[in-house]
Amino acid sequence: MGVMHIPGHENQRPREVSLEEIRAVMGDCRLCELAQTRTTLVYGVGNPRARVMFIGEAPGKNEDLQGEPFVGRAGENLNGILSLAGLKRDDIYIANVLKCRPPGNRNPKPEEVLACSPFLREQIRSIWPDIIVTLGNPATHFVLKTEIGITRLRGRFHQMGHFVVMPTFHPAAALRNPAWQELLEADFRMLGDYLARHPVGSGAQVPAEHSEALPKAVE
Ligand code: SF4
Repeated sequence: MGVMHIPGHENQRPREVSLEEIRAVMGDCRLCELAQTRTTLVYGVGNPRARVMFIGEAPGKNEDLQGEPFVGRAGENLNGILSLAGLKRDDIYIANVLKCRPPGNRNPKPEEVLACSPFLREQIRSIWPDIIVTLGNPATHFVLKTEIGITRLRGRFHQMGHFVVMPTFHPAAALRNPAWQELLEADFRMLGDYLARHPVGSGAQVPAEHSEALPKAVE
């Protein structure tokens, strides 16, 4: 596999590149300063043919130590609410926008997202899910190419090329805010309802009741 060349979201499934090949290209990546402080590069985990792909922000402390996304309390919360959508961890794939932990869990810097996001785009192209669930603002902003906050975007689906995108709260943030946790659970029930009404092979289109246009991005 050569240099990552990542166009925007397409409607057609691109060439097949395995997740293992993408990981091999990353190697001991040192493309941004986070390489200096990380313990482990956290690539992603799950079903390489997942119908639903989850995207978070960046590894936290536990993820950095264990090398796997969404472990610890946030991971437990995610595991619990997955059942509301009729899903298990084995069904899905999970990755973050950044593969290395920002020190102290600070927000990702734009240059770090720029350096790391080609790997995520390649992962998305390899898995080619029907549905992408973005967890929290950084992942949502990256996938939907908007600066609009999660509270305005959540609660409905958005079409982005081939993909149906469901933005919702990050399970770690929801643990600190019971109102967000309720909304997060409501979103997962909505996802379960969508999956039940759109069996595998029926195509991934935003249902009519959720098909309002994405709000214009704030510049
Ligand atoms: S965050 Fe991404 S780009 Fe930066 S060092 Fe880690 S893998 Fe490389």
